[in-house]
Amino acid sequence: MRAILAENGGILRDVNSPTIQSSDDVLVAIKAAAVCRTDLYALDGTIPVPSQRIIGHEATGRITAVGTEAKQWRPGDRVALNPYLGDAGFLGLEADGAFADEIVIAASQLLKLPDEVSYPIGTFIEPVAAGMAILDENIGIPRADSILVYGDGRIAALTGALLRDGGYSDVEISLNPNRSVDAVIETAGVSGDYSAVIKALRPGGKLVLKSRDPAEIELPLLDLVKKEIRVVGAYLGNFAKAVEFVHRHANYLSSLVDMSWRIENFQQAFRAARESEDKKVVFRLNDDF
Ligand SMILES: [Zn+2]
Repeated sequence: MRAILAENGGILRDVNSPTIQSSDDVLVAIKAAAVCRTDLYALDGTIPVPSQRIIGHEATGRITAVGTEAKQWRPGDRVALNPYLGDAGFLGLEADGAFADEIVIAASQLLKLPDEVSYPIGTFIEPVAAGMAILDENIGIPRADSILVYGDGRIAALTGALLRDGGYSDVEISLNPNRSVDAVIETAGVSGDYSAVIKALRPGGKLVLKSRDPAEIELPLLDLVKKEIRVVGAYLGNFAKAVEFVHRHANYLSSLVDMSWRIENFQQAFRAARESEDKKVVFRLNDDF
């Protein structure tokens, strides 16, 4: 089968197709796989991965075979992948991922893709689940709070949509904040200037760190302390709720995706993903069945 390996900043190879190893494994023919920042970091070495690792983790597909204990699934089922593998790490980094024609994965890592959600739109389930962490009670932003989503492009837009859907009405998306807010959701990673963010927070306000940039960001400590800013990280929300959100907002999400890519054109695809985060770059695979 075809697969994109991390080697040399990304290379397309013919590799052996995976086979079911354990009784609760499932074989999935990948139908759509989206490029995310994590993949680009794995390709440029910012996140170290073995050179022969198949990368990619935001994916949907159709089941083609199931192990004897994977009784909840059948061949033909439409699924999305949950790439958080617990002790085994993260799909496409610590285990072979989804930029490939096929993948073998534990049955418990699959989510049913609703019939009305296309394969390319289903690739939003993982980033939506990640984004939904900001709605969690332990993040603790009251619904009446004013919120600045610090960032631009697709990820900031999606974060804003998640907040509005979650019951927040005073939400602004900007890289140049010019008012004082109760909470800031950071989605910009190292490209941000955090003195502007701290300035935009009211005294006692909350800074929610959301991007998973492996590099370090500079925070103006004195301003943080003087204003008694609370800093909290938001990692992962609920996958079932993410499926439901993607189902309800499939139309909106289709405006954030470029689903025209073939795996053969992976170099141009990665370049496009690096150049602009406006639209999610999605590979289409196994269109033939
Ligand atoms: Zn991702």
